[in-house]
Amino acid sequence: MTPPARLPVYFDHNATTRVAPEVVSAMLPFLTEHWGNPSSAYAFGHQVAAHVEEARAQVAALINADPRELVFTSCGTESSNSAIHSALVAYPARRHVLTTAVEHSANIKFGAFLQKQGYEVTFLPVESDGSLDLHRLEQAIRPDTAIVSAMWANNETGVLFPIAEIAAICRSKDVLFHSDAVQLAGKLKLDVKESGMDFTSLSGHKLNAPKGIGVLYVKRRTKYHPYIIGGSQESGRRGGTENVPYIVGFGRAAELANARLTDENTRVRALRDKLENGILSGIDGTSRNGAKEPRLPNTTNIAFEGVEAEGILLLLDQAGICVSSGSACKAGSLDPSHVLIAMGCSAARARGSIRFSLGPDNTEAEVDYVLQQLPPVIAKLRAGAPVASAEMKHEAPSPKLQGNIRN
Ligand code: PLP
Repeated sequence: MTPPARLPVYFDHNATTRVAPEVVSAMLPFLTEHWGNPSSAYAFGHQVAAHVEEARAQVAALINADPRELVFTSCGTESSNSAIHSALVAYPARRHVLTTAVEHSANIKFGAFLQKQGYEVTFLPVESDGSLDLHRLEQAIRPDTAIVSAMWANNETGVLFPIAEIAAICRSKDVLFHSDAVQLAGKLKLDVKESGMDFTSLSGHKLNAPKGIGVLYVKRRTKYHPYIIGGSQESGRRGGTENVPYIVGFGRAAELANARLTDENTRVRALRDKLENGILSGIDGTSRNGAKEPRLPNTTNIAFEGVEAEGILLLLDQAGICVSSGSACKAGSLDPSHVLIAMGCSAARARGSIRFSLGPDNTEAEVDYVLQQLPPVIAKLRAGAPVASAEMKHEAPSPKLQGNIRN
């Protein structure tokens, strides 16, 4: 089979996405002609401010929020840190944060930081399919819990948490609820009114806007304390001159994402299913990590018995295929994914797992190409072929081995 005309075959959309040409076109005038400061008193600034507000409305429409409920940030990480920080400042007597063991490092590491500051943080365990036991969650909420933070869609497995049910539990316990929806936005319908959370985080670069722009949704009348303190931008909720071109780009990307939700749920889902079924039925010793449903339509995470994912990554990279492995390289050793370990996977299984995350640009020919390239790669690695094993023994792994799921 000849490789697809366009290489690389990019199956890593949960890591980041390409900036859409329409987004670039929308942004450019704000780097060239309309470069004024939106806070300035003259028309040259006001005009720019009007475009910031237009973008706010476009992003709000994607999640059915009131535009006044959105705060533009620098990224998803900042949005999530800010929500938790705000709850702790708003309710200083409450010193406990409840989150889950499978969150993005934006929560896991911020939680560890808070513990060092003297706060108590509970990282709720998950079931073997990546789901959350809601009874356990309810039991873990304490009178001194300031906020519950649970992600909507897991970046590694695509498994979804029942956000509306979690929000209802939090409401009944009178505790704030934040959900990291960075991976959900643009892939599935996100309605903040239906789901009822107090805060949610989004990130532009997961839906064809540039890296370095995010949004925090803050439900009306929720007490909010800024994380970045300075000027009175964003109605006093985030200091710092607005990143106008990126905000405008995020607005346009949100519009595009809204328009292609059906495509993501039909065409992209069908491609993901073809890929997943093809691997599971075509290669012995493979199984899916995480529940089949409810799950993001674009993501599959597969364990390959008896092989190190880093080897797969390397050989697929040579074939022009981009995927992620379930381990993170730290100081020369490969740490298995905290998500898969929390689901009860052995370290060996976690180290042999690969995430494939598809997007609207992918084609059936690309799925066929990956299905054709994978079996010989796995067979070669299982036979102990020297390419991968030599690389795996490097004391300081090459940068090539550092592609992993941290995003
Ligand atoms: N949350 C999840 C689930 C993610 O996948 C990511 C992306 O890496 C983030 C948060 C962080 O987003 P950002 O890269 O914009 O900080």
